[in-house]
Amino acid sequence: MSVIGIDFGNESCYVAVARAGGIETIANDYSLRATPSCIAFSGKNRILGVAAKNQMVTNMKNTIFGFKRLLGRKYNDPYVQQELKYLPYRVVQQPNNDIGIKVNYLDEEHIFTPEQITAMLFTKLKDTSETALKTKVNDCVISVPSYYTNAERKALLDAASIAGLNVLRLMNETTATALAYGIYKQDLPTPEEKPRNVVFVDCGHASLQVSACAFHKGKLKMLASASDPHFGGRDIDQTLANHFSADFQNRYRIDPRSNMRAFLRLSTEVEKLKKQMSANSTKLPMNIECFMEDLDVHADMKRTDMEEMCSHLFQRVEKTLKRCLEESKLKLEEIYAVEIVGGSSRIPAIKHLIEVVFGKHPSTTLNQDEAVARGCALQCAMLSPAIRVREFNVTDIQSYPIKLVWDASMGEDGEMEVFSQNHPVPFSKMLTFFRREPFSMKAYYSTYIPYPDPYIGQFIIKDVKPTPEGDSQKVKLKVRVNIHGILTVSQATLMEKKEPGDQEMEESPEAMETDQKATGNGESSAESQQQNEGQQQQNHNSAEDEQQVPESQSGSDKKDGTKKKKSSVKAVELPIEAYTHGFSQVDLNNYIEQECKMIANDKQEKERIDARNALEEYVYELRGKLSAEEELATFVNENDRTSLCRQLDNMENWLYEEGEDCQRQVYVDKLNSLKSLGEPIKSRRVEYEQREGVLEEFSLSL
Ligand code: ATP
Ligand code: MG
Repeated sequence: MSVIGIDFGNESCYVAVARAGGIETIANDYSLRATPSCIAFSGKNRILGVAAKNQMVTNMKNTIFGFKRLLGRKYNDPYVQQELKYLPYRVVQQPNNDIGIKVNYLDEEHIFTPEQITAMLFTKLKDTSETALKTKVNDCVISVPSYYTNAERKALLDAASIAGLNVLRLMNETTATALAYGIYKQDLPTPEEKPRNVVFVDCGHASLQVSACAFHKGKLKMLASASDPHFGGRDIDQTLANHFSADFQNRYRIDPRSNMRAFLRLSTEVEKLKKQMSANSTKLPMNIECFMEDLDVHADMKRTDMEEMCSHLFQRVEKTLKRCLEESKLKLEEIYAVEIVGGSSRIPAIKHLIEVVFGKHPSTTLNQDEAVARGCALQCAMLSPAIRVREFNVTDIQSYPIKLVWDASMGEDGEMEVFSQNHPVPFSKMLTFFRREPFSMKAYYSTYIPYPDPYIGQFIIKDVKPTPEGDSQKVKLKVRVNIHGILTVSQATLMEKKEPGDQEMEESPEAMETDQKATGNGESSAESQQQNEGQQQQNHNSAEDEQQVPESQSGSDKKDGTKKKKSSVKAVELPIEAYTHGFSQVDLNNYIEQECKMIANDKQEKERIDARNALEEYVYELRGKLSAEEELATFVNENDRTSLCRQLDNMENWLYEEGEDCQRQVYVDKLNSLKSLGEPIKSRRVEYEQREGVLEEFSLSL
């Protein structure tokens, strides 16, 4: 069993593995470490990763990319509508406003969800890892942008389960980077010393994330994070592509914006130019041959031109950097370093802004492309019992405050912020209610979020019943932001009174009573460990107003204590119905089944192509060796040789004509029949060589 870390990027993914010797980034079937987040469909199979990106321009409508931004969103989301303008593939509105991606696959129309498309990419990454590691891979840690909300996180988890991956943690990208940084630092301060504060800036293809983190020996604590989900390398590409489109319209009377394929080609060229501009400040040419209407187009640009054109974008970067600094409450002199990762952090203007805001040269201690995946692999190894690595405690933060709102079933509405912004996570809180019947509560984000709907979900606490006298009873709820950053109500307990006639619950029946800390009982041992860490952090934080009442003593907490009347309490677990984001189990099972079928089909198609290639290869190899003067020519009589060569020629012609597209078995049978003619000749040669060898040895030994 191996454990892996996946950096799921907008443009490309990286996979790292933790092994006894350290962390390694895995290369794919093209010997590349970056696997494009790109999935394509053909009449025969799915094309995943590098191969999909390579055929994008010729199969535009069926090549899907940019789906990280669609995941967990609804079709009518204004943000999705904006995205659709730039996507060459078809996206349709599905029931319940879900997003459907419409493609031609196996010569039929198919509609896939963004979760399914993401699962296909994960299938590829899983397969790449299993091939490289020669073992099954299930456990993984996957990175997510720190600004992802509940819906997006849940969608990503669903995608992973469709692909058969068991996610031990969804890890915020900059937190993964921070872990990859911290674990190798031998000189971190001791607990008594001031922390080492480091700012991490990840500027990728479609988003910018900035986080401040405090390190001590063996642990890290995120302090604050700020993101711009709408700024990344691709926004610069778009600005430049629009500029050149206008330029070409002027000079060549062609408009690439009117032709998706041309615009896609232009975007690819513009991206290359952008990368060159990071290393050169001189004027650089851009030439595209046979662009539109058979025209060859030429243009040029200097870095300063680009900087001017994108100044509105760079202003956004500056704002985000400043926001993180502000929220971290760190003084500039308290910041030890600013570490940069992500492809777009190579842009000189961005490095310059970092220097302006933080008064420091950005450092590049980490591998800019692989840090996120490596951090995830480390975290996965720590969470998995299968692998031993050095422990390093990670305390993340809740990006947005969360409030719970409960209904007026008992005459009084209420709401409460259960997790404040930057609250340590994962974390559980125990809430106490007094109810005499089932009740429900709704959870919302209580601040601006980069998602149109702040609603998280509804939780119904069932089977609550009054005391025999009809009074309210105490119900304790364990509300948690789990290791994935997802809100759950993980436990509801009715503290049932055993003594009849006890009146003490009559006062303020529906008021929320205490807000206590939970103890342990995580979903996994890993999580409860994290939870403890979270609690330690919490304990250090004197600003918290929560009462620390151990759960076991809850029968004697504030309210009960007022009556000074002992009552024995029986804890009864209550069922909880949760209506929140994510697929139902039925849908999920259906998608898992579909994915398995597609995997089987791809495998079958690959075996068919392999059989065809093997036949083709044999034809070429044998014919080469049989030609006059070559190694096999003297081991067969001339008539047989001519006849076999003719058969090989015929086979080649057949392969390119009616034999182009046959069942696997047809190729296998044909190869076997050719082998029955070719192999005896080969073995005669081998026998001859062995005899000669023996003779030679014999003569030498004489
Ligand atoms: P995200 O983090 O937004 O999900 P990602 O992780 O796939 O996306 P990265 O691989 O970090 O993104 O970065 C890709 C982006 O970096 C692309 O837009 C690419 O053009 C840009 N990029 C890569 N190298 C350079 C360079 N030398 N100069 C400028 N931009 C670059
Ligand atoms: Mg990234």
